[in-house]
Amino acid sequence: MNVLQVAEPEFMLEEEVVLFQDSVGRWLDDHCPPEEIERWKHDGKVPRELWTRAGDAGLNCVSTPEEWGGMGGDYRHEVALMRQLCWKGADHFGISLHNAIVAPYIFHYGTDEQKQRWLPRMATGELVGAIAMTEPGAGSDLQGVKTTAKKDGNGYVVSGSKTFITNGQLANLIIVVAKTDPSQGAKGTSLVVVETDGAEGFERGRNLDKIGMEGNDTSELFFNDVKVPAENIIGGGEGMGFVQLMQQLPQERLNIAVQGVAAGERALASTLEYVKQRKAFGKAVIDFQNTQFKLAEVKTKLTVAKTFVDYCIGQHLKGQLDAATASMAKYWVSDIQCEVIDEMLQLHGGYGYMNEYPIAQLYRDARVQRIYGGTNEIMKLLIARTL
Ligand SMILES: Cc1cc2nc3c(=O)[nH]c(=O)nc-3n(C[C@H](O)[C@H](O)[C@H](O)COP(=O)(O)OP(=O)(O)OC[C@H]3O[C@@H](n4cnc5c(N)ncnc54)[C@H](O)[C@@H]3O)c2cc1C
Repeated sequence: MNVLQVAEPEFMLEEEVVLFQDSVGRWLDDHCPPEEIERWKHDGKVPRELWTRAGDAGLNCVSTPEEWGGMGGDYRHEVALMRQLCWKGADHFGISLHNAIVAPYIFHYGTDEQKQRWLPRMATGELVGAIAMTEPGAGSDLQGVKTTAKKDGNGYVVSGSKTFITNGQLANLIIVVAKTDPSQGAKGTSLVVVETDGAEGFERGRNLDKIGMEGNDTSELFFNDVKVPAENIIGGGEGMGFVQLMQQLPQERLNIAVQGVAAGERALASTLEYVKQRKAFGKAVIDFQNTQFKLAEVKTKLTVAKTFVDYCIGQHLKGQLDAATASMAKYWVSDIQCEVIDEMLQLHGGYGYMNEYPIAQLYRDARVQRIYGGTNEIMKLLIARTL
């Protein structure tokens, strides 16, 4: 989609990346047509077999090294996948969280044994990933998590409850943020993998009823003294969780910005189509100067956003994306996304409020971008610390 007519950065133009992006688009056309996406929304989740079909197509774990079963790509491939999911309106499928948030914790910090144990099965779709940080009593204040993983014989016992967990109904590999030493604050935090198949004491709560992203199974999860082997602490040793989170959250925030731009592009393309055919006062809605000015503003804002996000992707590929810059991208792009989609919905008149038009879904889905991955207020705190 080149509705912004912005030249792609060179790193996205490498033939293999372009071919991959195109092939993802075709795969989504075949496996996630609009009527299928409607079914996800109705069911509150994607069908379980979509994960294995994505595995068969090589879409799971695209940036995971081949030696661990992944496609051996890099962040550009994740960008290509995220964009196509947004362009096709298929982003309720939580594959980018599985690929570009969950798997990296394992391949960056896991022991060889952990990588071998989990990554190949994440790549096939046998394991579906989730990350459980947020709790009913602790969201922004991650240090306040109450879930514990207490040493017990050869392993740990995980106790606590989590909420708002993406992929929560289908995930069977869950990275749980837990205190291995509650007296130590951040230093007592570890990332503990719970493989839920057959795990006694593990319970899924409600698949939460949301204003958007209805096709994703955002859920409550309960860990009622779930036993896990000692080898399930990511990295092997206790107390590294907070550092691991701080190092990986910039990529999560960049993902949100990438998705924000792509959703904005889809909204602009569908709005242009609409205002060109809709007539009022004997002319097309696009012929009103107000419409042209509003869309000129939208195109400008999205062009600035894309340019900045492309810069951030480039920095990230070089390993130079710092936390504050990633926070700027997350907060600013998600604000712009909400702003421009609201303007474009207005240009649809009453039809913009009707679910049959893509702009209505884009409007509802956009809102959470300012909340998850760290709220935009928290992003500003992180940026302000660098002043
Ligand atoms: C659809 C969806 C999917 C999600 N997926 C996941 C997931 O997969 N895994 C996961 O762990 N979590 C997930 N979350 C949770 C999400 O990350 C949290 O909702 C978010 O971090 C905010 O936490 P909270 O909801 O507890 O809000 P709170 O922390 O209670 O914040 C309430 C308000 O106070 C503000 N605030 C808080 N602290 C400060 C401060 N110091 N200064 C100024 N303002 C402040 C916040 O910005 C916000 O406006 C998801 C959430 C949603 C809605």
